[in-house]
Amino acid sequence: MCGIVGYIGPRNAAPILLAGLYRLEYRGYDSAGMALVRRNRLSVCKRQGRVGALEAALPNSFAGSPGIAHTRWATHGEPSDANSHPHCDAEERVALVHNGIIENATSLRKKLEKEGVVFASETDSEVLAHLIARAEGDTLEARVRVALAQVTGTYGLAVLDARHPDELVVARNGSPVIIGIGDGEMFVASDAAALIRHTRQIVHLDDGELATVRADGFESSMLEGGRTDKTPLALSWTDESFDKGNHEHYMRKEIAEQGESVRRTLRGRLDRRFQTARLGGLEMAARELLDVRRIKILGCGSAYIAGCLGANMIEQLARIPAHAEQASEFRYRNPVIEKDCLYIAVSQSGETFDTLAAVQEIKRKGGAVLGVVNVVGSTIARECGRGIYLHAGPEVSVVSTKTFTCTAVAFALLAIHLGRIRDLSPAQGGRLIAALEALPDQIEQVDAQEAQVAELAKAFSSANDAYFIGRTWGYALAMEGALKLKEISYLHAEAYPASELKHGPLALIEPGTPTLIVLPDDELLAKNH
Ligand code: GLU
Repeated sequence: MCGIVGYIGPRNAAPILLAGLYRLEYRGYDSAGMALVRRNRLSVCKRQGRVGALEAALPNSFAGSPGIAHTRWATHGEPSDANSHPHCDAEERVALVHNGIIENATSLRKKLEKEGVVFASETDSEVLAHLIARAEGDTLEARVRVALAQVTGTYGLAVLDARHPDELVVARNGSPVIIGIGDGEMFVASDAAALIRHTRQIVHLDDGELATVRADGFESSMLEGGRTDKTPLALSWTDESFDKGNHEHYMRKEIAEQGESVRRTLRGRLDRRFQTARLGGLEMAARELLDVRRIKILGCGSAYIAGCLGANMIEQLARIPAHAEQASEFRYRNPVIEKDCLYIAVSQSGETFDTLAAVQEIKRKGGAVLGVVNVVGSTIARECGRGIYLHAGPEVSVVSTKTFTCTAVAFALLAIHLGRIRDLSPAQGGRLIAALEALPDQIEQVDAQEAQVAELAKAFSSANDAYFIGRTWGYALAMEGALKLKEISYLHAEAYPASELKHGPLALIEPGTPTLIVLPDDELLAKNH
């Protein structure tokens, strides 16, 4: 699923949409395109390749409003100019950009072809453009509603009609859509990053919701009818938080930001009076937390691994049995949901599909679930309704760095909070709080050793495999290390609990195979010699 940007208002949409697409480039995509309305006619330009290629292809005269734009990550049909979005009907009245997958596109396409529709692309999305153009209805929204009733699948959608240049329609099911509120102008996007330059007042659509957006406001409703009432949310991120600054790329920038991000995660949450952590967003009283008998943490990738660390800390400090599991596994195995178990969903973006599905399954079965999320107002945060925000600032790099660290810190806070409700003494709480207070500076000291780390990396650069080992929380960190090496260097890497090494994988380790050992200075240190 890739990027959507839209604009309606008095300005020329083209530069606004283009800047929005550049902001969404970090998500990865294979083509880009844009459609504008000018004097009740559509102008469309789309190109396979980078946003830069689209910019180069835009004629000087390409101007108008409203407008919609897209970066595509192909699911149906190869990356090509023709398959790029926006897609239109044959008369070029309706233009649409779509994120997601229309599952019944093949049968709908056959039906439309029988009715004489000629398709210009191989995409599933184009089906929707024809369905909307052919639907009955007085308004664009009414026709989008009729069309969407015929499709199954996931979508984030923005639609234009050249005959109705005073509105655009957006809809959401399983793929994010955000409306940005301006002054006499409105914006839409799949990701707040594309809007932040223009507005900080945003509204998230929910699944099954659609909205008609005009220059002076919007009206939202459920797909099956019934108006919805949305309260705008104020974003705290600024446009500068998306700048690379002096850094070569976002990953370097975000690694360097870890100290500052952890300071933000901790801000206002350390309670010296009671030697505990204050987590207002939990919205669970001590009495309710005392009833919790088990904790189950769910996430994908680095969020799952940070959850493993979290489970370890909670078990150690609060003496509540805690366990982490991949959300993708959990949701498909018809999990048993227990009344006295507290479920925690971890996701940086708050949009991770499998984690969201797990949350919905838990809620459907009556379980209590908290979110540990970075993006304020994101789907998982809203679905959970309570939890801990990381406040790490935007993480643009696809690879999780500072949010992994901040998630671990959020879990440390939760473990202290739960521990201090149970058996953790004020003195122990005080020591842990002091350690957390010292952490940002310590992170920055480690960051300052980048040159030495780079030397070590050079020494290992010719290796084909690497092993990461550790015990308990050291093992969770080893898992994250191995995942990072695989993701970033495309090197084979594996993590093992230190004592498991002798039960097999040791046979694969030969002179020259780098083995990284995570060795916290704790009571298990001697066990690693
Ligand atoms: N399924 C659509 C396509 O292949 C949309 C892909 C996307 O989300 O970018 O064109």
